[in-house]
Amino acid sequence: MKNKRQLKKSFKIVVCFIIIIIFVFIIRYLVLINNKNNLLERIPAVNVSNDNNVVNQDNWNLSLVNKWNKISENYEPDLVGISGGEKVDKRIYEPLMEMLEDAKVKNWGQMPIVVSGYRTYEKQKQLYNDKIRSYRNKGYSKEKAREEAEKWVAMPGYSEHQLGLAIDINGATYDLYLWLQDNSYKYGFIFRYKGNKTDITGTAEEVWHYRYVGMKVAKEMYEQDLCLEEYLELKK
Ligand code: ZN
Repeated sequence: MKNKRQLKKSFKIVVCFIIIIIFVFIIRYLVLINNKNNLLERIPAVNVSNDNNVVNQDNWNLSLVNKWNKISENYEPDLVGISGGEKVDKRIYEPLMEMLEDAKVKNWGQMPIVVSGYRTYEKQKQLYNDKIRSYRNKGYSKEKAREEAEKWVAMPGYSEHQLGLAIDINGATYDLYLWLQDNSYKYGFIFRYKGNKTDITGTAEEVWHYRYVGMKVAKEMYEQDLCLEEYLELKK
């Protein structure tokens, strides 16, 4: 009888022990899974944050930042201030000024204004959140507000403005945009988001947004009606 009780006791101890071991394994497994997930989340972030992925130092003018290509959070080119208070990459200052001076004729003799040049990650984040908020205030759901906002403002990290090679130009009349569409390539700038390329660029038409790619490339793109994504694909 005593033996039986002892056996029962031992059995209970063994069962408890097994349960503890199983429990420990489950905890370890969960921790492992969690770490793995964290790691998986971190890997693409590290990759896409690598400047070299997006900003190619040899072909800096061809750096591609769009909906699918992220730029590092702290990328900051050598900047130079322009009239109106905006900044751009130093390397595009001269052709930009030349283009704006020549565009003046089509703008009632007024110098077109660069209303947006280089943007920091923080600035882009603020613009993005402001846009979402404005849709939320109109009564849109969280999801819908974000969807609508993204049609107009890129997510932080995904805006070409963070390169310092893109500008938004304001003119006195619409004629300015027509002139830019026909002439910007002579200065190395392209009409970046054409209405007929929306599917490829991922951005709706923006007549005011221009991007520097260099004179040679801009001419080729203009003559063959290529957007930057198409040009880069062709040159692969
Ligand atoms: Zn823009």
